[in-house]
Amino acid sequence: MSVLLHDVLVYDRSAPAGHTGPLDVLVVGDRIEMVAPHQPVPEGARVVEGRGRHLLVPGLINAHFHSPANHLKGSVRSLPLELFMLFESPSDERLAPTPREAYLRTMLGAVEMLQRGVTSVQDDAFLMPFPTPEIVDAVAQAYADSGIRATLALDQPELPEAEKLPFVAGMRRALGPRAGLLDEPAPASAGHLLEAYAHLVSTWHGAADDRIRAAVSVSAPQRVSPEYFAALDDLAERFGLPLYAHLLETKPQRTLGTEQPRFAGRSLVRYTADLGLLKPHTNVIHAVWVDDDDLDLIAEAGATIAHNPVSNLRLGSGVMPWRAAIGRGIPVALGTDEAICDDSINLWTVAKTAGLIHNVAGLDSDDWPTAAEVLDALWLGGARAQRREGELGAVRPGMLADLALLDLHTIAFTPLNDLREQLVHCEDGRDVVLTMVAGRIVAEHGHVTTVDESALLDEARELFAAKRPLVESARQASAALVPAYQGMVRAAAGTDVGFTRWVGGR
Ligand SMILES: [Zn+2]
Repeated sequence: MSVLLHDVLVYDRSAPAGHTGPLDVLVVGDRIEMVAPHQPVPEGARVVEGRGRHLLVPGLINAHFHSPANHLKGSVRSLPLELFMLFESPSDERLAPTPREAYLRTMLGAVEMLQRGVTSVQDDAFLMPFPTPEIVDAVAQAYADSGIRATLALDQPELPEAEKLPFVAGMRRALGPRAGLLDEPAPASAGHLLEAYAHLVSTWHGAADDRIRAAVSVSAPQRVSPEYFAALDDLAERFGLPLYAHLLETKPQRTLGTEQPRFAGRSLVRYTADLGLLKPHTNVIHAVWVDDDDLDLIAEAGATIAHNPVSNLRLGSGVMPWRAAIGRGIPVALGTDEAICDDSINLWTVAKTAGLIHNVAGLDSDDWPTAAEVLDALWLGGARAQRREGELGAVRPGMLADLALLDLHTIAFTPLNDLREQLVHCEDGRDVVLTMVAGRIVAEHGHVTTVDESALLDEARELFAAKRPLVESARQASAALVPAYQGMVRAAAGTDVGFTRWVGGR
């Protein structure tokens, strides 16, 4: 199957205006074959007309995401991460999804992304209470059926709460007779989780013509043992997978160095580096409460930061030190984080937020993100995070044909003053008229072509409405834990760690 995108402007990061053309772009199989003027239409090819006023850009890459919350948008008010997590995914066995629920909720996210030109997603899926082969299959199958490119990991903690959090003595006092909760083992052991990974890698890594790949996830270094961390790193080395690690997302995590004896005063980044597990394949997710030493280590390791500015605002986590990271040459990718803390899976608005939030770091505007840097994060950083540099993130011959076609005959781009600025600050995804993944057209005019969207929404609405009372009752049970967790968050907030990542204040 071939597709000729005829008479389109083509995004080109090195062109002065940010684009070249109008040109013709020929896609054969899953790759871009040619980008040149006036191409003949190959026999049997579908022709997509650009009329000189459509812009072809690389498909957007969502570098950080958790699909299991796709059906929970808008259901939890803004709270600090440690409180938010009590309500987002209470560990209640009754909430374990059926395979159909897991399939449908994954599909909701895939559809939303494809509608807006997001062609690739890195899903750090927490399959509570623990992953089973059936649920892993349901998630991966949804990605396969939707047509999106997905890199799937299993984000599961392996240690009890008391090992993952700071100020545990105070939490025990606040919990009183319920303090034993902090010592309960995680729902799945390292052995169980490694079996789930064996299934994921053997069944799905390279599936759907290599559209589906596996990744590994430690969730966060404080949530796993060094042995399990090393076992996952070994898998990453053996199969060439990215490794996902939430690192220093919040201030309570910053205080773990002094509040958990096993970290011996070290930051979680330093701890990870000392284990020999900070590497080029590491996705350092968030990196908000990092200091200069941490950033030096990340740069030295060649790791990538996955930046999620909307989630960081929603959960009050703070502002990632953009210029300090970019200035060290650290690749930065952009992610939405989960649908319950964005609450849209819209990478365009993430890009806009990334383009704006760092301006409050100070008045030296040379330190502020440029539109070109934000777009590089979106495309090149995303490809780097996924370990698919040279295959994704640009429109040129030989690259995978993961593409989004934008109508420029729209309010966002009329008049066209500066393409890069308007892509970052004006576009919100509504002008995406066609999305292609691996050479296949998967969405057109705002709707996916791979599944029956309307039937999917009907089924999801009914099924998740029926589940809602269970979610509510699990959340009510979690509410009893809030005073203890809030005490911990407040103790961390009041701790002097030598710097801040918050802005404003009372
Ligand atoms: Zn996350």
